[in-house]
Amino acid sequence: MLLDLGAPIALAAALLGLWHGAVLAGGMAAFIPSWAVLAPIAGLGTVVGFATGVLATPVVALARRFHRAWRSGDAAGASWGAALAWAGAVMAWMLADKLLGNMGAGTLAAAALRVGPALLAAWVGWVLPTPPRGVLRWGGVLAGLGAVLVVPWTAARLSPPPPASSVPAASPTAGAPDVILITVDTLRADRMGFYGHPGGLTPNLDALAAEGLRFDHGVTASPWTVPSLASIHTGLSTVRHGAGLPLDPSAPFLRTPLDGAHEALAERFAAAGYRTHAVVSNAFLSPAMGFDQGFQAFENPLLMVGAVGALLELPLTRVLLSVVPPEDVGDIRAQGITDRALAVLAEDASRPLFLWVHYADPHSPYLEDPTQLEWVRPLDLLEPPKALQPDGTVVGPRFSAIHDVRSGALWLTPADRARLETYYDRAVVYVDQEIGRLLDALRARPNPPVVVFTADHGEELWDHGGFEHGHAYWREVTRAPLVLWGPGVSPGVVSAPVGHVDVFPTTLALAGLDVPSVAGDDVGVTLPPLGPAPQGPRFAEGNLYDLPGALVVDGPWHLTLHANGQTSLYQVLEDPDEVQDRSWAEPDVTARLRAMAAPRLEATAGPSGGVGLELDVGSVEGLRALGYVE
Ligand SMILES: [Zn+2]
Repeated sequence: MLLDLGAPIALAAALLGLWHGAVLAGGMAAFIPSWAVLAPIAGLGTVVGFATGVLATPVVALARRFHRAWRSGDAAGASWGAALAWAGAVMAWMLADKLLGNMGAGTLAAAALRVGPALLAAWVGWVLPTPPRGVLRWGGVLAGLGAVLVVPWTAARLSPPPPASSVPAASPTAGAPDVILITVDTLRADRMGFYGHPGGLTPNLDALAAEGLRFDHGVTASPWTVPSLASIHTGLSTVRHGAGLPLDPSAPFLRTPLDGAHEALAERFAAAGYRTHAVVSNAFLSPAMGFDQGFQAFENPLLMVGAVGALLELPLTRVLLSVVPPEDVGDIRAQGITDRALAVLAEDASRPLFLWVHYADPHSPYLEDPTQLEWVRPLDLLEPPKALQPDGTVVGPRFSAIHDVRSGALWLTPADRARLETYYDRAVVYVDQEIGRLLDALRARPNPPVVVFTADHGEELWDHGGFEHGHAYWREVTRAPLVLWGPGVSPGVVSAPVGHVDVFPTTLALAGLDVPSVAGDDVGVTLPPLGPAPQGPRFAEGNLYDLPGALVVDGPWHLTLHANGQTSLYQVLEDPDEVQDRSWAEPDVTARLRAMAAPRLEATAGPSGGVGLELDVGSVEGLRALGYVE
């Protein structure tokens, strides 16, 4: 009966598949002009679209069957036909939901489908003792198609993380301490209680700072993730390591990876016999971007969550995923990152451990409840918020339209801004709690480890009119919290300017490892307690968006030089909020720092001739999830 419909079904499904593949790949082509990424996306879209078409078309056949059976007085056959037609109709509804734009029917349809099979089974059991053969056959086809989609995904999920670059293992240094590098994405230093925030947001980090050595004048290497973390891991400034620089003006987030020629922290620890492991949650921190250098194991759940999240754009896989708890695919929250870190701590105690833990909770999307884990739905994130509240606010329980705010397409009211600040602070509280759980486990270890805590950059929350990070060099973005804790570190405060670049030599020195000597005023030095407080300037450069800039920090002076030639100069000890521009009042200081900034700006502003980069699907979706990709 269905066979006579075979050709039209196949044709319709094939057209639907091709259409899906083209739409999915076409949506990405605008910002990622790379066939290496687009081809698999187009292929996936075509296969899933085809499967959806095949599944949806039996509705027609079953409706015919129902009609025929009903006319011939066969109540059981008619019931069967109606039941399966109903199931097909729900599937078609999902499809229409997708085709006609997301009308909010997705959740309802998914709920209907969860209840549907149970209702269907009950009905079938009631009306029909012996199911007809044709139904069994089609049930097999449905199950088979489902398995085709689910099995590779499950296999990918269950497979262990791919081994990173092969790292020679030397014999471990006797008595070498474990070293834990904790970095938090987008964490403003001024939210820390130990830097004076009155809100009590960070009791666990405050305790760490009270027991450890605190640096009050930390400077990030850049206003965004990749250059800053590359500096932390190599001890080199952005100008020297060249990571995160633009490759192509038409694809602003295609950036140079960390060059393998620069030796990274984990490589030195691995060479000294350490077990090296990374648990990170930011799509830029991927093997494709070179951040797995030296790590024997490199885990980034966001890459898997991003790749699987792409499947939510297709109706059939959305149905399948609707019954899978997101944490089964990968927990990208602080809770999941801490859980993984604790598991890593419990493994193999025969060698000292170098563990890098990177949390991303304060980063957008902004969540009313930061403990909530939900599916990353990439295309949804590209749309501005839809619901305008009666009071004119637009920020709902989840806000990710950072691109629209940045571009000026969306103007947020003071009430919206206040709400986002509340969300941000909640994320800070949440990440502090989860870091607290990690610190408790570290304190309970028989041999106390070395802990290095910092953030890659902060976040603008309209302090100077701007929002987010990656473009401006205000202190809300470029002030880095920094705390050292553990054996050999006494409580104290260092007030001289220090930078991300100093983390590399200092971390090695705290573990008793050799520190390579590289000359230059923009290379890291060993900080107190193992070296003198640094005297030289510190630098930040390498924007992600907008007008390129370069920041020079020299003593109390912060000078930013912008690509349009403008400078701003602040004396941050007297003017910590950077209110009064002193460029004109201090011409000598301005000229001196400007001369330092100019070559750095030039080196990082234009498209780079650097190493090419091929991002995988998971990275791309992860970047979209973070709102980086337009
Ligand atoms: Zn970041």
